[in-house]
Amino acid sequence: MPEWHAEQALKKYWDGKLPVRLGPMLSGFDIDYYFVDLDCPGCIVVGGGRCIMLIDRDLPARARRFRAAHELGHWIMHRSTICGGCQLGVAEEYEASEFAAALLVPRGVVVRWLWLYKAGLERQRDLAAACAVGVQVADIRMEDFIF
Ligand SMILES: [Zn+2]
Repeated sequence: MPEWHAEQALKKYWDGKLPVRLGPMLSGFDIDYYFVDLDCPGCIVVGGGRCIMLIDRDLPARARRFRAAHELGHWIMHRSTICGGCQLGVAEEYEASEFAAALLVPRGVVVRWLWLYKAGLERQRDLAAACAVGVQVADIRMEDFIF
């Protein structure tokens, strides 16, 4: 399901270039976002029908991107449970991270990448660089499509 939601968001707001730009996507979803000092990596505040995303400004750039995509996943998939600071469960956290990985490293890109790079340890690193995500994220995405 997270993969499907990510594909829908990409269809609507992605220009097909890498790295996937989150700014236009967040604007498309009518989400205001700010980089601020936080005690946690990021969170969503909902009020008056508006969504405000807060991301810890001290995170490295790639981690900030991942966190923003993760929070967007919560907004899309768990909106009804985000209210008044309720804590989400482990399953929701996992889904949001799965969404983030699928959004930042789109399915089509991974498939093409695996086709181009038949083998070699650099492929994860290069995919991570192209998509501006951590190597671990690229690695997980590749594993999703290798069998
Ligand atoms: Zn979360």
